[in-house]
Amino acid sequence: MTTRIRNKDAEMKKRKGLLIVVSGPSGAGKGTVLAHAIAECPNLRYSVSVTTRAPREGECEGVNYFFKTLDEYQRMLHDDEFLEHQCVYGNCYGTPKRHVLSMLEQGYDVVLEIDVKGALDIKNKFPDAVMIFLSPSSRSTIESRLRARASESEEQLQIRIAAAIDEIKQAVLYDYVVVNEDAAQGAQDILAIIRAEKCSVRANKKFIDNLLYAGGNNL
Ligand code: 5GP
Repeated sequence: MTTRIRNKDAEMKKRKGLLIVVSGPSGAGKGTVLAHAIAECPNLRYSVSVTTRAPREGECEGVNYFFKTLDEYQRMLHDDEFLEHQCVYGNCYGTPKRHVLSMLEQGYDVVLEIDVKGALDIKNKFPDAVMIFLSPSSRSTIESRLRARASESEEQLQIRIAAAIDEIKQAVLYDYVVVNEDAAQGAQDILAIIRAEKCSVRANKKFIDNLLYAGGNNL
């Protein structure tokens, strides 16, 4: 076997993970749906973002977010430590670059839970990223979920409701829409999308090439 073919086989064995982007308006229930999906799928990892927002009750450092001061955030921005970053509702958010790339390199599928602008930025940089829009089942659920969270003032709440409607208009830019009527079912839908994407022709081009042109005995 030539070195070239051996290298190809090694490359085939070390498949990179899928980058999955999940967006949806506040109150769509993204956190709960993703927690279900991750609990069921050990190969799926959640990218913990950095934020300058204050922690909500029950949120933990390193689990929900890495909570930073504006100075710390700006230092990270300056040092090019983000894959993408956005300011949302007056707070800054960023996806830590090194961790996500290392997970993908190790073959894990990585899910980014980010806003629509950040999602489009990721799609530009990573055209193979799988884009999923998680939608609440009705307008009234958005409002009731946001009110139940009770972490914002009435003014903040109204801003989030209006922004949620704006975000839903962007759903057409995504590859898939998952409607969150039930978190467990929403998680199953996301896992089904990941499974289908792994069987897509796009994801298997190298595999097919190897089968045809490199012997394909060590796949
Ligand atoms: P929340 O403050 O409710 O946790 O998040 C507000 C919005 O920021 C949500 O739409 C959430 O998906 C988004 N978000 C969280 N982390 C990031 C990030 O790293 N990048 C971007 N672009 N948006 C994020």
